[in-house]
Amino acid sequence: MGGPSAHNPVSAGGASPLRLDCDVLIIGGGLSAGWAAIGAARAGASVILVDKGYFGTSGVTATAGPGHWWVPPDGDLREQAIQRRHALSGGLADPHWMARIIDQTWRTLPTLAAYYQFPVDDKGVTQYRALRGPEYLRALRNLVQDLGVTILDHSPALELLLHDDGAVAGASGIRRQLNQAWTIRAAAIVMATGGCAFRSHLLGAHTNTGDGYLMAAEAGAQLSGMEFSNYYTVAQAKTTMTRSMSYAFARYFDSDNRELAIAPGPQMNDGLARALLKGAVFCTLDKTPLDIQAQLPQISPNVMLPFVRSGIDPYRDRFEVTLRGEGTVRGSGGLRVIDESCQTSVRGLFAAGDAATRELIAGATSGGGAQNSAWALSSGLWAGQGAAALARKNGRRINTPVKACGEAGLRPLREVARIDSRAVIAAVQREMLPLDKNLFRSGIGLEKSLQALDSIWIEIRNHAHAQPSSNAALAIRESAALTASARWCYRAAQARRESRGMHQRSDTPAQDAQYDYRLLTGGLDKVWTAADPRTHASTQTDMKESVA
Ligand SMILES: Cc1cc2nc3c(=O)[nH]c(=O)nc-3n(C[C@H](O)[C@H](O)[C@H](O)COP(=O)(O)OP(=O)(O)OC[C@H]3O[C@@H](n4cnc5c(N)ncnc54)[C@H](O)[C@@H]3O)c2cc1C
Repeated sequence: MGGPSAHNPVSAGGASPLRLDCDVLIIGGGLSAGWAAIGAARAGASVILVDKGYFGTSGVTATAGPGHWWVPPDGDLREQAIQRRHALSGGLADPHWMARIIDQTWRTLPTLAAYYQFPVDDKGVTQYRALRGPEYLRALRNLVQDLGVTILDHSPALELLLHDDGAVAGASGIRRQLNQAWTIRAAAIVMATGGCAFRSHLLGAHTNTGDGYLMAAEAGAQLSGMEFSNYYTVAQAKTTMTRSMSYAFARYFDSDNRELAIAPGPQMNDGLARALLKGAVFCTLDKTPLDIQAQLPQISPNVMLPFVRSGIDPYRDRFEVTLRGEGTVRGSGGLRVIDESCQTSVRGLFAAGDAATRELIAGATSGGGAQNSAWALSSGLWAGQGAAALARKNGRRINTPVKACGEAGLRPLREVARIDSRAVIAAVQREMLPLDKNLFRSGIGLEKSLQALDSIWIEIRNHAHAQPSSNAALAIRESAALTASARWCYRAAQARRESRGMHQRSDTPAQDAQYDYRLLTGGLDKVWTAADPRTHASTQTDMKESVA
């Protein structure tokens, strides 16, 4: 496998399209993209990584402090950890995959030591579990560069290219700072575009608009677990600081200064959400032990910034709070993977991190706080290695004709009309962010939202069009991706007529053994849902379609 080659090298400031080819193309620039690039490059592939932002500062954990699922291989510690987490997963996680990510993470994180300074505790033991996001992402970028990976920053992918036989052939996108289109032919692709947080002002999630789900679905990929897409996180009102660890000692009050019966712990969000639906809620962290107050700025330097800027001492004062929707970021839905190298149902297309479903390791609950980072690392490595192996086997096939498969926003079905992407995003948010629509769900509510979302989709699909080399194309593709993701989330939520994990429906409040399976969804104009045959063999043909 040779290095990446340029058909048409970039001329500074020039607008002629950039054409490159490589063995493995990584789409994304967060944790999972970094590990995927490392996995592929170490396996001998020539690799290009394209990020919508700047790889090293973008992605949801770039400004956070990702803690990994970190369990030593001592005695039955791992088995116990898996049993504990599995019991919370609504029966949908898979102990085999849980064991795989624990082991891969345990073996891999220490290999970053030449690029990241891991701290040592009082007893001289190196601490690997939690890393400081900015330094972690910088370490990944430096390592990826040293491995010879070509990085295109500020270069979002807009659509995938397919061979006649349905295998993935490459992707196209734009270099935002040059207003220049790019096309990269690749033998395999790793989709590492993160989850979709519906532009809720969740920390670091501005670029997480579900683009990877849309691109992959247009190529024929399936999604799984999209009903588990309603995790919410507490934050100081009007800020994006959704790092929830400081709220472990929180006390909450209504606007009449009455203390609310909201206890920190798994039920906190529920109580807080119910209180927020009645009015403003205020919080104080005055019960936080002094040693934790002292440690917090060292563990997470940016956590205190919004308080400092607004002149609030959270350990003494009361401040207003809100809940920020996380969609599939700390939800668990995403692209379905069909083998141990995280390949999707489209040949040559692999998924990693939050772009992939995390049901395998977290089931119906959130994998945030430990499992998701371990998954981002492990699935990234496996996808990168799998993509490299496929490239080695099949070659790049760069002289065969390929088909661009982007639809909404790129190839309208009817006459072109101006579609305001901001108005589309606001309309999608009106269905996806309110607590009484998404956190507290009901069959009737989901149906109403789906009607609204389906009509938004029809408008975009029929009339939206932007030149592929323009920034307008990114805006319209992001709004299409948000709309498509919303429809998959709610169609799956509608099909799961029970309550399980984070998916709670007032009309079907109990968990129902009939639904002891993972739920697949997909399709664009027609959104379908079906039981995953691997988890529910008898419903293999139970394919329910709904037409927009
Ligand atoms: C505040 C916060 C803290 C968290 N902390 C933890 C934790 O401590 N432990 C834990 O287990 N989990 C944590 N999580 C969960 C987290 O979701 C994952 O651990 C992990 O960050 C996922 O990595 P990722 O690479 O898949 O996605 P991201 O880090 O979100 O990266 C996605 C990347 O894709 C790029 N992208 C998007 N669209 C395109 C496109 N069209 N073309 C090119 N690039 C694109 C984005 O620019 C971004 O670089 C946290 C989440 C949040 C929000």
